Parts: sequence; structure tokens; C-alpha cells
Amino acid sequence: CADMAMFEVKERGKNGYYFFNEQLNDKILRRVNIEKYLKMALKNNEFVLYYQPQIDLKSKKIDGFEALVRWNSPELGLVSPEDFISIAEEIGFIVHLGEWILRSACSYISGLNAKFNTNYTVAVNISMMQLLQDNFTEVVCSIIKETGLNPNLLELEITESVLMQSPEISIGKLQVLLNMGIKIALDDFGTGYSSLSYLRTIPLTTLKIDKSFIDDIIDEESKTSIVESIITLGHKFGLIMVAEGIEKEDQLKYLEKCSCNKIQGYLFSKPLCCSDLEKHIQQEQ
Ligand code: C2E
Ligand code: MG
Ligand code: MG
Ligand code: MG
Repeated sequence: CADMAMFEVKERGKNGYYFFNEQLNDKILRRVNIEKYLKMALKNNEFVLYYQPQIDLKSKKIDGFEALVRWNSPELGLVSPEDFISIAEEIGFIVHLGEWILRSACSYISGLNAKFNTNYTVAVNISMMQLLQDNFTEVVCSIIKETGLNPNLLELEITESVLMQSPEISIGKLQVLLNMGIKIALDDFGTGYSSLSYLRTIPLTTLKIDKSFIDDIIDEESKTSIVESIITLGHKFGLIMVAEGIEKEDQLKYLEKCSCNKIQGYLFSKPLCCSDLEKHIQQEQ
């Protein structure tokens, strides 16, 4: 997008003038600024983790949380992960940031479980570049030891693009993590190219069906049957099935009917800051 913007700017400059379209200019400037401030943001403590509850459909109770990073920048305001994660990946900063996210999430949930006498799981999104680091499994191992989190309560979320990039390295590392008792989830399932039978060859415990499939399950019969078959097949392969982006009661009912294991979505809760999350838990208890 930034490249396209630059191109347009150059084109316009042919006649000697640079007519900056204001919106375009803002976009370029924002991208430049995100890059500029991103590296300092970690030192300055500008990142926070929010936690979105995952609900177990059998018990109707919170089973665990997905950690979702937020950047509260004094210069840029609140920046969405969709706007800075890809930039953090491009400049290699994600390795550093990702380690901070993993450590913070494990440490927080470990403390939360001790405080409330619970066994909540925590799911953490992992970027390709992190997984491909030579020492990734060692880093995870030391974070687990350091924070005292039961490895069975940690789930690492990866996407298909990670697997496509370097399948052999990824599979090897995922197997090591799985052997440590850690769960591995494939995030955004359905948006990539992998078939379920291909996924059978990947060490996975969990499949998260992307929101785009959930959005129309009630209105579009084709999507309804796709979701139902994905869940049935996933279960045959022994996978825990999670549906993302549930906003409506109808969707919930349908997923219950298909025996989906867990749901995550605004219908139950948006991602919460720590104090709201603890209020939520107190209410449930
Ligand atoms: P994701 O991992 O698929 O996370 C789910 C996204 O869907 C989150 O957006 C969440 O707030 C949103 N969501 C959940 N339920 C609903 C719903 O019912 N309706 C709607 N409209 N949205 C819902 P968020 O937090 O903005 O994160 C976006 C993406 O950024 C994530 O997608 C993930 O790919 C990436 N991301 C977020 N945090 C991290 C992180 O700590 N590390 C890495 N590597 N990536 C992250
Ligand atoms: Mg995720
Ligand atoms: Mg997702
Ligand atoms: Mg996503």
C-alpha cells in the first residue's frame, strides 16, 4: 500500500509539482511514523495486552483467553495490531515484541490462575519470523519456567502462511513444542489454501475457523454446510474446534448444534483490559 502510494506521488510529480492528495499524504506519513516510533515503544512501555475470553460451549464458561496486543502511542494515538504487526514483521522488530508479548501473557495468566484458583488457558499469536528464529523453542521453554505457567495451559496460534514458508522447519519446531505439552492452534482457518487432510500432517491440537466463515452461516446455506463439515472432519482428526467472531445468537445456536468446542466473539465479550477481565471473572465465579 505504501509502495503504491509512493508510485502515485512520483507520477504526479512529472509536471514539476507534487500535488499531495491529503489522504494519501496522511497514509504515507502514518506508515513512516509507525516505523519511526515502533522501536521506542517497547522501551517506553506503550504496548498493552488485552484478553478476549474463549467460551467452552459445553459448560458455557470461560475456558481461557486470547492475548491481543494494543499499542497506545503518545504520538499516534491507539494503533491497531492490523496497522503495526505487518510493519513490525517487515523491520524484524516482531521477534523482540513477540517475546515480550509471550512473556507478559504467560506471566499474567499464571498470576491470574493463582489469584482466582482457576486453570485458564492463554492463546498467543506467533509470527512466522518468531517461529523461524533458531532459538524459538528455547525461548518458549525459558518463559514457561520463568513464569511458572503450566505448559498445558499455553496455546500458540500460527497461520497457514507460516507453514507455507518453511514447512519442514516449522513442523519440526511445532513437534518440539507439542512434546513440551504446549497446544498449537491454526488461526484463521479457511482463509488460506490448506485442506484439512494436508493439515493432518501438521502437529496441531486446535483449529480456529475464521470469522469470514462464521459471518454468513445463518444466511448462506453453502457456508452453513462448509462449517459443519469442517467441524466434523476436525473432530475426526482429534482437533479442538474453535469458532472466531461470533456476534449473533443464531450463530451460537448453530455452532452448538455442530458440537463446536469453543467460541470467541463480541457476542460474549470483546477483548478486555486486565481490570475488566478480572471483574468479568468475579461475576462468573
Ligand atoms: P486474530 O489472531 O485472528 O484475532 C482475532 C481478531 O478478531 C482480534 O482483532 C479480535 O479483537 C477480533 N474479534 C474477535 N471477536 C470478534 C467479533 O465478534 N467481531 C469482530 N468484528 N471482531 C472480532 P485484533 O485484536 O484487532 O487483532 C487483529 C489481528 O492482529 C489478529 O487476528 C492477529 O493476526 C494480529 N495480532 C493481534 N495481537 C497479536 C500479537 O500479540 N502478536 C501477533 N503476532 N499478532 C497479533
Ligand atoms: Mg489469533
Ligand atoms: Mg483469527
Ligand atoms: Mg486474523
